[in-house]
Amino acid sequence: MTNYETYHHDVLVIGSGGAGLRAAIEASAAGVSVAVVCRSLLGKAHTVMAEGGVAAALGNVDDRDNWKVHFTDTLRGGQYLNNERMAELHAKESPDRVRELEAWGAVFDRTDDGRILQRNFGGHKYPRLAHVGDRTGLEMIRTLQDYTIHLGVDIYQEFTIVNLLKEGDKVVGAFGYDREKGLFKVFHAKAVIIATGGMGRIYKISSNSWDCTGSGISLAYHAGAELIDMEFVQFHPTGMVWPPSVRGLLITEGVRGEGGVLRNNAGRRFMFDDVPESYRAQTSTNEEEGWRYTQGDKNAKRPPELLTRDHVARCIMREIREGRGSPHGGVYLDIAWIKEKIPNATEHIRRKLPSMYHQFKELAGVDITKEAMEVGPTTHYIMGGVKVDADSQMTSTPGLFAAGECAAGLHGANRLGGNSLSDLLVFGKRAGEYAAAYARNTPAGKINEREVQEIATAALAPFERESSAAGENPFQIQYQLQDRMQELVGIVRTGKELEEALKHIGELKEKIIRVACSGNRGYNPGWHTALELTHMITVAEAIARAALQRKESRGGHYREDFPEKSDAFGKVNINIKKDDKGEMTVTQVTKPKMRDDLQQIVNEMK
Ligand code: FAD
Repeated sequence: MTNYETYHHDVLVIGSGGAGLRAAIEASAAGVSVAVVCRSLLGKAHTVMAEGGVAAALGNVDDRDNWKVHFTDTLRGGQYLNNERMAELHAKESPDRVRELEAWGAVFDRTDDGRILQRNFGGHKYPRLAHVGDRTGLEMIRTLQDYTIHLGVDIYQEFTIVNLLKEGDKVVGAFGYDREKGLFKVFHAKAVIIATGGMGRIYKISSNSWDCTGSGISLAYHAGAELIDMEFVQFHPTGMVWPPSVRGLLITEGVRGEGGVLRNNAGRRFMFDDVPESYRAQTSTNEEEGWRYTQGDKNAKRPPELLTRDHVARCIMREIREGRGSPHGGVYLDIAWIKEKIPNATEHIRRKLPSMYHQFKELAGVDITKEAMEVGPTTHYIMGGVKVDADSQMTSTPGLFAAGECAAGLHGANRLGGNSLSDLLVFGKRAGEYAAAYARNTPAGKINEREVQEIATAALAPFERESSAAGENPFQIQYQLQDRMQELVGIVRTGKELEEALKHIGELKEKIIRVACSGNRGYNPGWHTALELTHMITVAEAIARAALQRKESRGGHYREDFPEKSDAFGKVNINIKKDDKGEMTVTQVTKPKMRDDLQQIVNEMK
């Protein structure tokens, strides 16, 4: 019999990033008892790394902007696979969420007349990203965290959740451990909100922080919730490629928003060579016009460097593959060239992009005010995740809600930059509100003691195998998974590669049954990794299976064997669910017809 501590709350939020904190604030304000569990320290969630800004049609810099333009930009970027109701709510509500953040103390950069400043980003028709230099996430987390603590929400830091607990169909709590001592914890909750962020760390090259392993997506899947759009992984076009120790680290799109340009090793601005039909009317055809756009000329069209991320990343890959790349396997991103255009360019770059300046100076010995950066694609974001109801964020499992990067629907086949921070504010708030309402109307569930004991025994099993010759090393399995995902389920995929990836994933599943670790339970990285592997492998399998099913190329998903878009696949989402035998099932689900009034907006904006 294993001992554990128990806690009781109405609403349990797993994750203290932007989505989790915003949800906790709303639930707490509704008067129910709320707890936030996070496996890092409060303030260290991945949101803190967000750089460029939060998208909201405030219209402060260009008064032609409004929710309808934001809505259509989001659908065009997502290649019309988005959940339109989510896109509508997001575009309508994000301005209020940003203003509210300001009222709670967030200090955004300002226009000359004192309003929140907004910058250009890929796929957004007008300057739309409210920002704090290139440290927007830090300011958001600081503000949300202060408010969460002020409201008296209980915070459990450095606690990892490894299982959700159910009574019949509904979720009634969660099982986890604290990292310091490795002691088990059981949370009783009437509603659970998953806000665990992304999964970049299942790939070898990623911009994501260590705890982006997709665990919440897997927790929801194993609790019976449906997943959607898992094939759509965003590879951000500009990650560092050198030195190797920091490969994948992000270079914000804000660099291009401020006038940075992409060049190949012949000095050519190759983005002018390939502009998709759907963006041709909005894209400049010459360098001069593109520059004027970045400087706020309302009559100019945007430069092709500000096309959507999926497209820019593929153009960069083409240059590299065809031998026009930089020495370390990237291309050049140049902001230093703006010296030709503006006085005090050095100061301007350091003021607008302070983190980028320091990142390159400290990590690569490159002064971005003088030299171009070497950049290449990096695994950045997952558009797919847990399927939720657009209004309430409830998953298909009663009592379980999801918000932020781990939830899906808003972004369709490709996310626009800045739309994640607004996503987590809008839908974090909604998740908190609806989870609180659900908790008020639901009696506390009963946790099954036998199930808890079984989970605890399984969690300790890697220690039992310590001395076994057949014991598998958790780090080796993790590296193998990351390698395979990078190589076979990356930016360009084929059916053959995806089949091969699934075969490897099957072998890794066999290996994790024998995973072993040594030492004691306190701060034991081998044990933590051993427990995380099931989640990482579940998410990897869902991505590979969905990618195999979608026989076309669209947004973040590019199939070399099906390089064109297909009308038939343009009407379906791929859903994933665990069946009664515990197997992963994949189905194509036809999207419902768009509401007439929304369709009319799309038609008008074309
Ligand atoms: P996160 O902030 O990732 O938080 C997840 C939380 O869940 C953490 O507290 C973690 O500890 C916890 N957790 C995870 N698993 C468990 C578990 N099993 N048990 C307990 N706790 C758990 N988007 C924009 O819109 N604009 C930007 O400018 C921007 N810049 C970015 C820059 C970088 C470098 C990167 C990588 C991403 C950027 N993004 C940006 C994307 C955006 O930052 C993320 O999508 C967003 O912050 C995710 O927030 P979240 O609240 O969903 O999750």
